[in-house]
This record gives sequence, structure tokens and C-alpha cells, in this order.
Amino acid sequence: MDLTLSHEQQLLVQTVRDFIAEELAPLENEVEESGALAQEHADRIFAKSRDLGLYAMNIPEEFGGGGLSAFDTMLVEEQFGRTSDILIRRAFGNVYEVLLACEGAQVDRWLTPAVRGERVCSIAITEPGAGSDAASIRTKAVEDGQGGWRLSGSKHFISDGLVSDFFVVSAVTDPDKGAKGISLFLVDKGAPGLTIGRDQPMMGLRGTSHVELHFDDVPLKPIHMLGARGMGFRMALGVLGRVRLAQVGARSIGKATKVLDLMIDYARERKQFGQAIGEFQLVAQMLADSAMEINAARLALWQTALEIDAGKDPRTRISLVKVQAAETLGRVVDRAVQVFGGMGFCKDLPIERYYRDARIYRIFDGTSEIHRTVMGRSLMKGEPGLYDPFA
Ligand SMILES: Cc1cc2nc3c(=O)[nH]c(=O)nc-3n(C[C@H](O)[C@H](O)[C@H](O)COP(=O)(O)OP(=O)(O)OC[C@H]3O[C@@H](n4cnc5c(N)ncnc54)[C@H](O)[C@@H]3O)c2cc1C
Repeated sequence: MDLTLSHEQQLLVQTVRDFIAEELAPLENEVEESGALAQEHADRIFAKSRDLGLYAMNIPEEFGGGGLSAFDTMLVEEQFGRTSDILIRRAFGNVYEVLLACEGAQVDRWLTPAVRGERVCSIAITEPGAGSDAASIRTKAVEDGQGGWRLSGSKHFISDGLVSDFFVVSAVTDPDKGAKGISLFLVDKGAPGLTIGRDQPMMGLRGTSHVELHFDDVPLKPIHMLGARGMGFRMALGVLGRVRLAQVGARSIGKATKVLDLMIDYARERKQFGQAIGEFQLVAQMLADSAMEINAARLALWQTALEIDAGKDPRTRISLVKVQAAETLGRVVDRAVQVFGGMGFCKDLPIERYYRDARIYRIFDGTSEIHRTVMGRSLMKGEPGLYDPFA
């Protein structure tokens, strides 16, 4: 097994690094301070990203996307993790693979405009009463007797909700079937009965929104159902897994790597007691532990991406990577604050920002506890593949 990147893959990584250095890095401080990206910058970033084939790179070429393999997508996503999330949102878009379930007229109405960056999409699953237990949602779609549906209920924490043009919404269609009675619907902003509620203030996150949604008897036609009836829970779990690997796994590793770069620079420059602080073994250990953990997390990420490209469905391993990468990032940023001392706590440097931003990675897209539960269940079923390739 050879983990050396091919020439094309090295070129891809270099292209993204150059794109970040030339187009995104110069804007980082401005957008982080203001929490917003000026329209002229947003338009330029989007145009350049499309030219480079980075926008919607995860979507197959036949639908107008970049057609990258899962492995190459992770290479790009790791680099994206090194810059500001506000900028990445415009450079990459959030074209969720769940939209690939679009069929017939749905393709032109929802999938293609999302891939072209003309329409923004959010995923709306979480409700005030149903978070980790996503099968216990109360939003329901009741048949209207004419082939359509009436949608009622509420969601919350829906990312990008203020700028979204449409939402993929989970709703109960068959109450007596449990998780198999949940379906997905494509609901346009502006649908009668849909109210976009409060933007819920969040720790550390800037330049995005997390909204409440209220559905009051929203009329839906058959075209609004995404995928087959009753498959919503399965689709959400399966397809969002890949998003989890990219946007939490790879980006956490990219952020942790960037933070370790900054820690090493500081440990070499900062002198106390007449020597660089990195020469104190207690400080050097923090650098070494961070390097070990980042390397292990990346290898697990690559292994999982290769399994996806080989046609496997490594959803338990995705849970492993999600937890490992998010918790590695948490430990690395915590050490970074320590290595930078008072400057790590001071807003003059970006370390305190990285520290705050890292916290969400252990919560969204399934908490660490839920993913550990998934792994534990698999191990108890006697599936040692998670840790033993020889079994
Ligand atoms: C910034 C942000 C963005 C988000 N974006 C979206 C979005 O775009 N779309 C969307 O649908 N949702 C979104 N979410 C929701 C997110 O996915 C949920 O917050 C997450 O799944 C946890 O659900 P919860 O907050 O209801 O916590 P709860 O499920 O109430 O969990 C609370 C605590 O109990 C623990 N717990 C729960 N069940 C178990 C168990 N069985 N075993 C052990 N421990 C358990 C959890 O791990 C956690 O520690 C977002 C959330 C945030 C904060």
C-alpha cells in the first residue's frame, strides 16, 4: 500500500493552497472581524473557485460538479480547513450529496441550480425536541388526498437558514413505522406557511446563520418528496456521513495542522529563561503529542475515503474519524492556548478564535457520544474491522 500522493493529487493540493493564499488569506482578518464577506469579494471567490473546479467538487461531473473522488475531496477539504469558514462557504458551497437523489424535474429545479451556485440549500433535521434522537421528530407531512402533502412542525439550528433558497426537511409520513416512516421533502423559501424564525446566536461562529423554521400547513406536491417515501432517515444518515467526513473530519485536521504550524513558530521564536520555549521538554511534548494525534487522525481519514472510493459503506469508520478528528482539534487548540501563554488568550492573535471555533466540531453532525455509541454497538456485534484489519 502506497500513501504517496500522485502528481495530479499534489497539483490539486497546490492549486487549493495557492487559491487560499492568493484569494482567501488576504481577506481572513477582515471577514473574521466583521463577520461578513463583501459581495464583490464573494462574487470573485465564487467565480475563481468555479474556474478551478472546486465549487461543488464532490458532485459527479454529469450533474455539473467537479467529480472528485472521496479521497481527493478530503485532500481539498483539509486545505479548506486551514482558512476561514466564512470564505470557504463561498468558495466551495454546501452542495449536499443528498440532492443526488433528485429525479426527473427535480434535477432542474433543485440539484442543478445548487451545483451552479445559483441556489443555496440547508438541511433541516434537528428539532427543539429531537436532536441526537433524530428519529423522534414531530414535524409531520399528512397526505392531502390529491397526491400531495401538508407539512407542519418546527426545526431549529438550521445552518445558513437566512441565505438558503430551499431546505431538505425531514418529516414523519407514516407515524406507525418509526424511523422507516420518515421522508425527506424539498421546501422552497417563500413556500406558503413557511416562516424563517430567529437567527439563534452561537458561540464563535461568524458570517452564517442558524435559524428556527416553522411549517404551518405548508402545501407540498409529489415533486417535493426527495427519494422514496420512508427512506428519509436512512438517506440522511447515509449521505450526510460523507459530508461529516469532509466538513468535520478533513476540516478539523486542516485546522489542527494550521494551529500546530503556528505553535511551532511561536515555540521557536518566544524566548524565556534565555532559550526558546520549545526547548523546554514540557513544551516540546505538547508539539509532539499534537503531531502524533494529527497524523493518526489523517491516516484514519484517508483509509475511510479510500474505502468509500472502493465502493464500501464505512459508516462506522466515519463515526470513528468524526470523533478522532474533532477531539484531536480540541486538544491541539487547547495546547496552543497554553503554548502561547497570555497571548493565546489575547484577541490580538487568532489562537483564542481557533479555540472557540473548535468547540462545535464535537457537537454538530452527531455528538461524540452518539458516534461512540455507534462504534460501541458495532464492536459489541462482533465487528472488529474498526481496529483489526486482520480479523
Ligand atoms: C452550530 C450548529 C449548527 C447546526 N446545524 C444544523 C443543521 O444545519 N441542520 C440540522 O438539522 N441540525 C443542525 N444542528 C443540530 C446538531 O446536529 C445537534 O445540535 C446535534 O445533533 C445534537 O443534538 P442536540 O443539540 O439536540 O443535543 P441532545 O441530543 O439533546 O444531546 C445533549 C447531550 O446528551 C448526549 N446524548 C444524547 N443522547 C445520548 C445517548 N444515546 N448516549 C449518550 N449521550 C447522549 C449528547 O451527546 C449531548 O452531550 C446544528 C447545531 C449547531 C450547534
